[in-house]
Amino acid sequence: MTSSEDLHKRRLAAVAKGVGSVVNAYVDHAHNGTITDVDGREWIDFASGIAVTNVGNAAPRVVEAVRAQVERFTHTCFMVAPYESYVAVCEQLITLTPGSFEKRAALFNSGAEAVENAVKIARHATGRPAVVVFDHAYHGRTNLTMALTAKNMPYKHRFGPFAPEVYRAPMSYPLRDGGLSGAEAARRAIDVIEKQVGGPNVAAVLIEPIQGEGGFVVPAPGFLPAIAAWAKANGAVFIADEIQTGFARTGQWFASEHEALEPDLITTAKGMGGGLPIAGVVGRAELMDAVHAGGLGGTYGGNPIACAAALAAIETMRELDLCSAARKIGATMEEALTDLGEGIAEVRGRGAMIAIELVLPGGIEPDATRTASVSKACHDAGLLTLTCGTYGNVLRFLPPLVISDSDLGRGLDILRAALRT
Ligand SMILES: *Cc1c(COP(=O)(O)O)cnc(C)c1O
Repeated sequence: MTSSEDLHKRRLAAVAKGVGSVVNAYVDHAHNGTITDVDGREWIDFASGIAVTNVGNAAPRVVEAVRAQVERFTHTCFMVAPYESYVAVCEQLITLTPGSFEKRAALFNSGAEAVENAVKIARHATGRPAVVVFDHAYHGRTNLTMALTAKNMPYKHRFGPFAPEVYRAPMSYPLRDGGLSGAEAARRAIDVIEKQVGGPNVAAVLIEPIQGEGGFVVPAPGFLPAIAAWAKANGAVFIADEIQTGFARTGQWFASEHEALEPDLITTAKGMGGGLPIAGVVGRAELMDAVHAGGLGGTYGGNPIACAAALAAIETMRELDLCSAARKIGATMEEALTDLGEGIAEVRGRGAMIAIELVLPGGIEPDATRTASVSKACHDAGLLTLTCGTYGNVLRFLPPLVISDSDLGRGLDILRAALRT
């Protein structure tokens, strides 16, 4: 068999350098909590392909549903000749997301595309231009979503000019904002919005209920409800970007539920498709239906194979009660990650979305160097971990929600050893 080393040589001559990889091990197969590379080495997976394979890799129901759908038809384009599974996925989004009001949904291919469409819908429905986003936010890599994303390197550097009418407000980041309460942090953000943008100009306030790429930042309690209440009072659409937090990852179907939020619109992707590319926007019927027929769509959005996979993934989440599994994984991780000595400012997150923020001893100065070396030590020992954070000093863990106790335990042992050296 071709080795990872050989494949990497071919890659360097064929694949654009701008596309990076966390490790240079090339995958042969993957199931549940492990990935086996072409050299026969087994990795414990604490990444889930960035919070995608919540139901595990090649989950049995997903494989079966995809196989059956491929044999029936592969593509007609829902805008040309529609089919049941697209409707069924929209029904699931409506049922599973918080909000007791009447809803509609639409399907797309990627998270960035879902965010773009949520903004299109909010602008169309309100007739207003401005979109408010937050420090440390990540919303994607297309032109509009780069503008919405906070961090320059690697996402935005030299890729401008960016889309206009995007305004950034300060986030609640308890470790780094001097311990502002949720209400105080919200007041600070609202003050910026009112002074620099003006309530009547705001089409949408867009926020990740727990920030993903930005560092698994969990805002102080009360921050999100206060921002949502401001949006409501000012006629702006409150959009929760649940692309990373959604589909059982945080111990609820959607992270908005932890603070009883009922966002006007929710964007979903990642965990939704069990590994196939699919995304959605779901929310208030009067907003979603404000757009003229033909105003939303795309060639592949809600492709039948991806829809079949999404329905199977959702069924798996229900059947295996992966919300409970996520809570249990989170509790195990938090317990294993205590007493790790100096340089750890915080272990935070919800459910199976847990991170460690590393700092220089004695303060909260970010320690990106140690973060990179701990990450490398994990990789050398066969544990696939990711980093994140505006300052590059956060180790984040996103195991598949079906990971076995023994794989989870082995992964945590590797992680603890890497943190101790
Ligand atoms: C990953 C992510 C996106 C972008 O999704 P893509 O499918 O990569 O386009 C947007 N928002 C959040 C919160 C994400 O984590």
